[in-house]
Amino acid sequence: MDLPRIFTIRESGHRIHNPLTPEKFAVLGEALRLPPGTRVLDLASGSGEMLCTWARDLGFTGTGVDISTLFTEQARARAEELGVADRVDFVHGDAAGHVAQEPVDLAACVGATWIGGGVPGTVELLERSLRPGGLMLVGEPYWRRTPPDEETAKACHATSLADFLPLHGLVGRFGELGYDVVEMVLADQDSWDRYSAAQWLAMRRWLDRNPDDEMVAEVRAELDTEPVRYTRYSREFLGWGGLRAHEALTTC
Ligand code: SAH
Repeated sequence: MDLPRIFTIRESGHRIHNPLTPEKFAVLGEALRLPPGTRVLDLASGSGEMLCTWARDLGFTGTGVDISTLFTEQARARAEELGVADRVDFVHGDAAGHVAQEPVDLAACVGATWIGGGVPGTVELLERSLRPGGLMLVGEPYWRRTPPDEETAKACHATSLADFLPLHGLVGRFGELGYDVVEMVLADQDSWDRYSAAQWLAMRRWLDRNPDDEMVAEVRAELDTEPVRYTRYSREFLGWGGLRAHEALTTC
């Protein structure tokens, strides 16, 4: 059970595997307005940057679960480096269906809603780990501009136009699921570049260092096409947001 190798070739140098910068992650953490001691479950925690920096800066504690052995090792090393290894731990495993043993204050899935089969299923999954009145945090792409046709959507690495909604549609979806969206921090084109363009350098360096690897043809082909594809399509059409949601208060 592991992430396909192409992902770790592209992103082994990334601390954050989504289009938020360290600054935006810090803004998102502050915007949560949660006290020290807040308990977090982070599903698909990647290299653990969110949990580790929030543990250091905000005093949160928590657990991250990720299917990548490399990213999970990097997360543990980062926790040591930032001096928070006593407050956070990282588990290698499949986050699909993962429910916390003790209910948490904040349940997050930032950039991996396929683990619940989409946003509604992920909201349902996170809900199962949340204490009553807890918060959830979901990171998800949206259409910054709606692509004119299916071909353009596919060029943004979507399987179809229906994969994503415009931002107001994504925000509205939480309302339909019985949640109030109470905060959001969005990627922008520059922060997308930090995520995507950094992959090109990682691939180029990997090719320089591994000329005889069996993955060379695949990585070479990707580096030949990605920069133009990204700047022409994803950078124009795709947005990304971290949305914080509370279960809606019902008045009756
Ligand atoms: N939340 C992290 C990582 C987002 S990238 C961050 O923002 O940096 C998506 C992550 O999902 C990767 O780390 C990948 O290893 C992980 N992943 C993919 N499928 C998974 C699964 N079924 N269970 C757990 N993690 C998964």
